[in-house]
Amino acid sequence: MAKLEIIIAPDPRLKRVCKPVACVDARIRKLMDDMLETMHAAPGIGLAAPQVGVAERIIVVELDAADGDDPRRPYFMANPEILWTSEERATYDEGCLSLPDHYADVVRPASVRVRYLDHDNESREIEADGLLATCIQHEMDHLDGVLFVDHISALKRGIILRKLRKTHKSGAPALARP
Ligand SMILES: [Zn+2]
Repeated sequence: MAKLEIIIAPDPRLKRVCKPVACVDARIRKLMDDMLETMHAAPGIGLAAPQVGVAERIIVVELDAADGDDPRRPYFMANPEILWTSEERATYDEGCLSLPDHYADVVRPASVRVRYLDHDNESREIEADGLLATCIQHEMDHLDGVLFVDHISALKRGIILRKLRKTHKSGAPALARP
């Protein structure tokens, strides 16, 4: 396994619509494993392929063991599709490995039913609620070039992206500046 570099917003690679995976083969499995390692190292609870520069429909999600009776297991999902969402909504203070140190309240369906291909290319369906539902929807958004800040007001989004741009520039080595 290898740790990959996480792309920080704003970056055009985070705004692309990703392509479906034909089949979860050895190449995709390796990518899934590398994504999980990258997510653990960050650390985070979800990661989407475009965040590591790959424009394919793959996400990994793993919540903390502390999350009650939900067993700690990585969910590897290729071509995830939402089959159903609840009328009920839930609000979470979301963050993102591509927008480090920024958080905002995002409202989404409280429960979802999702179909996907797993690590073994098997078609699976799960119904998720709570943080797992939010996390899956957040990661799936990445596959369509949508970030959590796209769900909040343009004003708040502008503030966060401006700060990220500034932090980024000041973090770059002096010689690399134009
Ligand atoms: Zn994210």
